[in-house]
Amino acid sequence: MAVTAKETVSNDLVIEDGWSEFVAGRYREGKSEAEFRNYDASVVPTVADFYKANHELQTLEFALAKEKEYFALNKGTMSIWQAAEFLNTLVDESDPDTDLTQIEHLMQTSEAIRKDGHPRWMVLTGFIHDLGKVLCLYGEPQWAVVGDTFPVGCAYSDKIVFPEYFAANPDSKVPKYQTQYGIYEPHCGLSNVHMSWGHDAYIGHVVRNYMPEEALYMLRYHSFYAWHQQDAYSHLLSQHDEAMLPWVKKFNPYDLYSKGAAKPNVGNLKPYYEDLIAEFFPDKIAW
Ligand code: FE
Ligand code: FE
Repeated sequence: MAVTAKETVSNDLVIEDGWSEFVAGRYREGKSEAEFRNYDASVVPTVADFYKANHELQTLEFALAKEKEYFALNKGTMSIWQAAEFLNTLVDESDPDTDLTQIEHLMQTSEAIRKDGHPRWMVLTGFIHDLGKVLCLYGEPQWAVVGDTFPVGCAYSDKIVFPEYFAANPDSKVPKYQTQYGIYEPHCGLSNVHMSWGHDAYIGHVVRNYMPEEALYMLRYHSFYAWHQQDAYSHLLSQHDEAMLPWVKKFNPYDLYSKGAAKPNVGNLKPYYEDLIAEFFPDKIAW
C-alpha cells in the first residue's frame, strides 16, 4: 500500500496498528542485534512503505513549517476529554471487534501506570500521550503523525529504523545537514533540536504549561526510539536531557506492552479521569 497525503483516515489507522505491533516486536526486551535485523527484514510491507515515506519526506524545512503552523495553537479550544473523544472518532474499520479504540489504548496505558503506583501526573501522562494524533483529523498524512521520530538538520543515526530510506531525503544532499552536529552545537540540549514532525511534539506543546517537566519529556520523546532505546544522539544531549532520560525510558513499556491487558471500561473509569484532568488542566485549552 503506497503512503500518500491523500489516504483516508481509516487507512492511516490500519498502518498505525501494524506500526504498533512492529515497534513492540522490534524493541522487545532481551532481543539481540541479529534479531532486530531479521525482524526489520521480514516486517509487513505496509510498515516498510510507511517508513519509506516518513524518511524521504521529513526534512528540516518540513519540520520547521509544521512547528510554525501547530505551535501557534490556533486550531481551536477543547478540553482534554473532548480531545480524547475527538481522537476516538479515528476508527480502524478493518477489524472493529478486536482492535482497541484510541481511548482504550490511552486508558490501558494510564491504568497500567496507575496499577504500578506511579504519581498521578504520570497516570495522566499515559492518558494524554497520544492525543497529538488529532493531527490525523486535521488532515495530516500518517507519515507526519506517527512512527519513530528523529532529529532533523544533522546526520541520521543508523540506529533509526530503516536508515537506508534516508538516502532519498533531500536533506541527505545538503552537506551542512549531514555532519555529526549539523546545524546544532555540541550538547545544545534537545529543546534546541528540531525533531521530525509528529504527534509527540504537538501534544508536548499543547500541555507545556500544565504538566511537570518529566511528563513533558515523556510526551515529547516517547517516539524517539533511537534515543531512549538505542542511546543514539548523546552528542546533542544536555545534562538536563540526561537527567530526564530515565523518565522517558520508564514510560515506554506502558505504551508498548499494556496492549495485552483486558479492555478498560471507559464509562466506569471516566469519573476518575475527569477528576485527574481537572487537577492539572483548566476547562478548555488551546490546540
Ligand atoms: Fe504515541
Ligand atoms: Fe501510544
